[in-house]
Amino acid sequence: MQQFQQYIGGAFSDASAQFESIDPATGQAWALMPEARAADVDRAVAAAESAFYSSEWAGMTASARGKLLLRLADLIAENAQALAALETRDTGKIIRETSAQIAYVAEYYRYYAGLADKIEGAHLPIDKPDMEVWLRREPIGVVAAIVPWNSQLFLAAVKIGPALAAGCTVVLKASEDGPAPMLAFAKIFDQAGFPPGVLNVITGFGPDCGAVLTSHPKVAHVAFTGGPETARHIVRNSADNLASTSLELGGKSPFIVFEDVDIESAVNAQISGIFAASGQSCVAGSRLIISNQIKDAFLAQLSEKAAKIVIGPPDHMATEIGPLCTRSQRDTAVDLIARSINAGAKVVTGGGPQDADSLYFLPTVIDCSDAPDAPCLTHEFFGPVLSVQGFDTEAEALTLANDTAFGLASGVFTKDLTRAHRMIRGIRAGIVWVNTYRAVSPIAPFGGHGLSGHGREGGLRAALDYTKTKAVWLRTSDEPIPDPFVMR
Ligand code: NAD
Repeated sequence: MQQFQQYIGGAFSDASAQFESIDPATGQAWALMPEARAADVDRAVAAAESAFYSSEWAGMTASARGKLLLRLADLIAENAQALAALETRDTGKIIRETSAQIAYVAEYYRYYAGLADKIEGAHLPIDKPDMEVWLRREPIGVVAAIVPWNSQLFLAAVKIGPALAAGCTVVLKASEDGPAPMLAFAKIFDQAGFPPGVLNVITGFGPDCGAVLTSHPKVAHVAFTGGPETARHIVRNSADNLASTSLELGGKSPFIVFEDVDIESAVNAQISGIFAASGQSCVAGSRLIISNQIKDAFLAQLSEKAAKIVIGPPDHMATEIGPLCTRSQRDTAVDLIARSINAGAKVVTGGGPQDADSLYFLPTVIDCSDAPDAPCLTHEFFGPVLSVQGFDTEAEALTLANDTAFGLASGVFTKDLTRAHRMIRGIRAGIVWVNTYRAVSPIAPFGGHGLSGHGREGGLRAALDYTKTKAVWLRTSDEPIPDPFVMR
């Protein structure tokens, strides 16, 4: 079995314990991972804190930080294929997606490299004579970054990139499911030339590692991506230290299709919206809300195409849907489908795993038009399962779209420009895609509200979340201070 090590203070080491990582394609253990416990977390935070105040890092110019991030971006691009193969092996995410996504991850680091020396303070036109007042923008401190297993390199990049651009240091806890790509990334990071301790990469389980890290008194900010239940723990943990948090959580995103669309084009977008990443995507367009005028024709094309999707080993270039990452996800999906059928929902295509024991899940479409209480309308599957609801009016479409506790993403398909604008205004979500879906860029902020969390990743302002301001007052008068009991 392959063995991986954690990365603390610029050195690779074994952790307090080890655990086996399972290859989802075979169900077999294939590697031994370092399992960080409290002592390892303490060491990682101490390394990050010492780097944060070190002259090497704190004294480095912002432009020099940017150059290091550029070097890191180049190294990621050079090693993209190897990282992709490792992510595919450890998480079951198909190679087509991991290779394209990791090549693009380099662009996120390039974006934040460029931003490093554009994080500016401000001069204030203060309302007092003989005073100069300005704001310094300073790095917030040690950042705890926690990521789930899906798209880890990408989800880590939107935290590490802005945090290092701002001058913070980071302890990244990789997911216990599929941590290999992050531990391999640490080796690439090590070659980029950052001072030791600027980034530390550990992995371990929620209670023994994640909870210790997010409640650590030396952590100033927790950047978390994962599910809402874990996020509640994170917020409670961070309360010990009153650390700030940014939470990128799940979704139950509406995909709204009006009657005036090109059906084939919208079907293709829906297929990618729900079945890409085998449905294991926070922005999955998992609720199709479709005009009753075209519902039958749309579902007929959708089912025909869904039935032809190539399910297979994740490392084959021809594969379009691979295995789910974990057995518990599979079991949750099976249970939700059964409960939805009991509530009156009808399976249009698919309906469960390929075989009773398999992690390979059939692309599934469930019509809930006569089952408004079906749990598949409200619960995130994190699997290739689409629910369907028909509508007659635009107002009804909007009501259905907003009938969710989440608020991450949404899609609107129509050729009617004024209607598109009304929908954009009415939808309660952090992202609205019009006549497209799943497009992302380092330049565009990403995030949601409600159970989808708070804070934004990507874009200019994300780097500011890793800073705090310091107001500086300087008296310019040479006159002695006259009356000590008057505030100036
Ligand atoms: P999860 O919440 O179970 O785990 C996420 C991370 O939190 C893991 O590293 C885990 O070890 C850690 N963790 C668990 N308990 C903890 C605790 N008590 N304290 C600190 N850390 C703890 O999520 P998952 O099942 O691995 O991933 C799927 C979820 O992530 C889905 O809900 C999905 O929608 C969401 N997600 C969101 C985005 C986004 O950007 N909005 C992107 C990808 C995934």
